[in-house]
Amino acid sequence: MPVEVGVLALQGGVEEHMASLRRLGVTPIPVRRPEDLEQSGSIILPGGESTTLIRLMQRWELVEPVRRMARAGASIWGTCAGAVLLCKKVTEQEHDLRQECLNIVDVHAVRNRFGRQRYSFREDLAVKGLDEAFSGIFIRAPLFEPLDENIEVLSRVEEGAVFLKQGNVWLSSFHPELSGDDRIHELFLRESGIDF
Ligand code: GLN
Repeated sequence: MPVEVGVLALQGGVEEHMASLRRLGVTPIPVRRPEDLEQSGSIILPGGESTTLIRLMQRWELVEPVRRMARAGASIWGTCAGAVLLCKKVTEQEHDLRQECLNIVDVHAVRNRFGRQRYSFREDLAVKGLDEAFSGIFIRAPLFEPLDENIEVLSRVEEGAVFLKQGNVWLSSFHPELSGDDRIHELFLRESGIDF
């Protein structure tokens, strides 16, 4: 399987993820078309706006190729809106939005769980796999509810899970690419068996 790391480059925090990967010595591949995935052994789906992102993924025919990658065991990491896309159930507080998504992990995402942009916050998080706290930046972030026992929660806040994984698929509700701290990218690469 190819070792390069793709970053979905349709909308949102693309550059910040690519910068973090470069600092770790990995050359990222911006993914805009299905053929860009051919060299990618794994992919990061950045934050942005999940409703827009899914529409763009449909338009550029990236939905099925990403699902195929997940089924084939490739590592996939969604941050914030990118994580929402990966979930099998997505609601916004009490409303079932029936937002069309990739339906990959057995997780319920509650979008915008902490309120509007002005309620963005930063919180020191204990993260499984890291020795010291990680400063998590939350911007209109979702909260995750695991729907299956085989989900490993890597970090939580008082309200619930904010970082978890199911097999090869990782979800973070916060934005590690904005913290200027590459330890979570490093953890993802290391646990995904990517050489860097
Ligand atoms: N609230 C956005 C959504 O659900 C996510 C925001 C973000 O990615 N920072 O699509």
